Amino acid sequence: MAKLILDNLHKTYYKNKEPIHAVSDLNIETNDGEFVALLGPSGCGKSTTLRMIAGLEGVTSGNIRIGDHKINDLHPKDRNIGLAFENYAMYPPLSVYENISFNMRAKNVPRQKIKKQVEKISDLLDIKDLLHMNPSALSGGQKQRVNIARALIRRPEVLLLDEPLSHLDGKVRHKMRTEIKHLHNEIKCTTIIVTHDQLEAMALADRIAIIKDGVLQQFGTPLEVFNHPVNEFVAGFIGEPPMNIFSVFTKFKDGNIYFTSKNEKLQFKVPDKYVEFVQEGKEYHFGIRPTDISVITDDHPDSIDTNVTVFENLGEESRIHIKIEEDNILSIVSEEIYPFDTGDHIKIKFDTDRIHIFDIETGGRIENTKVTAILS
Ligand code: ADP
Ligand code: MG
Repeated sequence: MAKLILDNLHKTYYKNKEPIHAVSDLNIETNDGEFVALLGPSGCGKSTTLRMIAGLEGVTSGNIRIGDHKINDLHPKDRNIGLAFENYAMYPPLSVYENISFNMRAKNVPRQKIKKQVEKISDLLDIKDLLHMNPSALSGGQKQRVNIARALIRRPEVLLLDEPLSHLDGKVRHKMRTEIKHLHNEIKCTTIIVTHDQLEAMALADRIAIIKDGVLQQFGTPLEVFNHPVNEFVAGFIGEPPMNIFSVFTKFKDGNIYFTSKNEKLQFKVPDKYVEFVQEGKEYHFGIRPTDISVITDDHPDSIDTNVTVFENLGEESRIHIKIEEDNILSIVSEEIYPFDTGDHIKIKFDTDRIHIFDIETGGRIENTKVTAILS
């Protein structure tokens, strides 16, 4: 087991002499055996980071260390890192067994030792029955398991997985996700998974590094990034359905300060903990998750009277959508299935402990609780 440390890692490519900062001053330190997800939209620098760790790509500046050892000048095969790509091509004429043992055979490892290792790893990944097969006969899920077996046979200190589930669909994808988590529990190898799927990152990782345009936005546990996103980007990226985020303005009325939507259709008191942080007559971005809005029947000083625009009954939950402005729909997710219809009158209430306020210029979170903001 090992700690992986990325220390001010930077990668610049040049395209038509213009620099592309694919990765900018990335600092991440994993714990021994930790499962970390690099999460972000396509093109944000995830694969570049993984390829630098594996040694398939040089670093522009910065260091990569495993424990106390700097590895960025080492040849990929000397780094003790296992890498499973999104679509790692197998050698088609070779059997699964031969594919998994390819590197060991190339190094003239004794046959008995190879056999033992392959058996152990295929037991772990439940691919014993596939060993004699040809790669072309495998399903997507089976291919990915073989792919991971090939990375693990070298007993790496660090396992890297680049979008291992992206080519799988529906049920297989879900099953494989559980299998990867189970596998990690078994082998406890420091693992970095790259994904653009926030649900995958939330389900699998001990900590998630959220990256945008090559820049780390937040590195935290799934609960930290969900409950205390450091900025609007993280807030919008984590959570499904996404957080409701819209513009509000502050306004004084009867000795209290209120947030109002642009058209003043929504009006609610600024929660106490935010009062000292907001200025009068200013615009903010207000965020609240669909599950943090409740439908209420009794009168409450903070309740908001409005109308249902669209109602969806999804069986295990219902979703209520309320058009508050021309291009602004507020979504509510509730475990209760209401008999609502378009136009019905409804009273809603925001859970004031769970609202998020962001600066409109920087996108940074405005709050009194201490959060380790990487960007401020
Ligand atoms: P991700 O894996 O997050 O989708 P990548 O790491 O593949 O993103 O790419 C990050 C950025 O670097 C993108 O803008 C991409 O176009 C650019 N890039 C990646 N590889 C190269 C390369 N070999 N040459 C030039 N630009 C590259
Ligand atoms: Mg990629």
